[in-house]
Amino acid sequence: MMKRRGQNFLVDYAIIERIADYAYLNKRDIILEIGSGTGNLTKILAERAGFVYAIEVDPVLAEGFQNKFDNVKVIKNDALKIDFPDCNKVVSNLPYQISSKIIYRLLTKPFEVAVLMCQLEFAQRMLANPGNAGYGRLSMIVGYFCIAEIVEIVSRSAFKPMPGVESSILRLKPRKDRLKVNELQFLNLVEKLFGNRRKKVKRSLLSLGASREMLEKIDSDLLERRPEELWPDEAANLACLISSRIDQK
Ligand code: SAM
Repeated sequence: MMKRRGQNFLVDYAIIERIADYAYLNKRDIILEIGSGTGNLTKILAERAGFVYAIEVDPVLAEGFQNKFDNVKVIKNDALKIDFPDCNKVVSNLPYQISSKIIYRLLTKPFEVAVLMCQLEFAQRMLANPGNAGYGRLSMIVGYFCIAEIVEIVSRSAFKPMPGVESSILRLKPRKDRLKVNELQFLNLVEKLFGNRRKKVKRSLLSLGASREMLEKIDSDLLERRPEELWPDEAANLACLISSRIDQK
């Protein structure tokens, strides 16, 4: 077992079936699975969906079920180093040490639904609202892009070897009602806000190049808040308001 690769395999087959249920799979689906491991989840995905791309960094594991299913392409590579193939659904038992990097990459891609096993505490941070413990950059970004829900809490005993933390199955659905904003500018703003989390929103906007005149057009209550008191859509609105200025920088 290579600990740094998060190789805790799901051995409770009822849970594996339910993961597939939560993604409403059908034969038209093209699935992306990140970290296919021994192929236990991949097998169910292959049975229920049309096609599965399974990315696995461990060459021994990837070889283990290469060519085992007609409708599975095993991609022997590091999921953080390659472009994700086009898919309409993402279903994975994520390697926990890279969960946030994977989520950030997924959010800006088109997909219908993502069902992801991840650390419970990490999922709770994604769902946190302003004022809650754990609300931060991840919550703001996920809250802007998606509706997130924990569909099941999973005990450590469902895995072999048992991880040191509780897990949960998270479902993400892209928001249809989200404010259209230049995504890069929104992500820049969020990074700046939480890079200066002790400072008021106004300071971050100024450091991003917003002029005093621009700030006068923004509700002063928003400007006086700290980043962890700002809702995702309020941050998206701010990104829109100052975006022309960021473009010029
Ligand atoms: N899908 C299997 C299951 O449900 O039992 C394995 C899940 S295990 C939690 C995570 C898997 O991700 C491991 O097989 C590990 O080798 C793989 N992995 C870790 N880091 C990875 C990376 N950067 N890119 C692709 N796969 C990775």
